[in-house]
Amino acid sequence: MTEHNAIAGFMKYAGIKEFSIKAALVDCDGVLYDSMKNHSRAWVKLMTKNGIKCSRDEFYMLEGMVGTEVIKNKFKTGLGRIVTDDEAAALYGVKARYFRELGEVPMIEGTADVLRYLKNNGIACVLVTGTQQQSTLERIERDYPGIFEERRVTGHDVRHGKPNPEPYLKGIAHSGVKASECMVIENAPLGCQAAHAAGCFTVAVTTGPISEKELYRAGADIVYPSPAALLAALPNLLQK
Ligand code: MG
Repeated sequence: MTEHNAIAGFMKYAGIKEFSIKAALVDCDGVLYDSMKNHSRAWVKLMTKNGIKCSRDEFYMLEGMVGTEVIKNKFKTGLGRIVTDDEAAALYGVKARYFRELGEVPMIEGTADVLRYLKNNGIACVLVTGTQQQSTLERIERDYPGIFEERRVTGHDVRHGKPNPEPYLKGIAHSGVKASECMVIENAPLGCQAAHAAGCFTVAVTTGPISEKELYRAGADIVYPSPAALLAALPNLLQK
């Protein structure tokens, strides 16, 4: 896929005559942080301790969903048990502790350069994540200073997490521009699905085991093998 073809396809989908990116909506896990390995480990530990069979791979496919929703779904399908909101919140607290105990996750290499380039070119960045992990949310300003300021949509702010478009619709509202003027940066199929449904130009980077094909199938307009590859393509995408 070339930038030219991706943009042409998106313009047709969005019904627009002019393509102009004015804001970027940026996912957290797998884009800002190399955190999915530890998240999947923490999930498997929580589920196994509660007698639910699962594999680490399935949590990569569920990435982007709000944690308490993951718990409700897994307990329902795995144990036939309906979990209340309070129980889900408590179980999520346990999972969040397991995640923290695995240590601080590294930043994804190259993402800071992408975000700085966007900022220097007048593109406002909005954080859009399903995470409710406080230890992660607290370090973003330190690791990516001045990028997001107060423009954040987290797992605490939405009723329906990804793949529902709600998080990205809220992110669009924060950006103050039209959906078709927003570029989403994602790494997960459910996130691409949400971004595409919200009407945004959807860029994915492969930073984990999910294949390029899977991301295109979920609605990505264009997929890059790394943030560095995305950075190299940004002049084309921003039509500079
Ligand atoms: Mg992600």
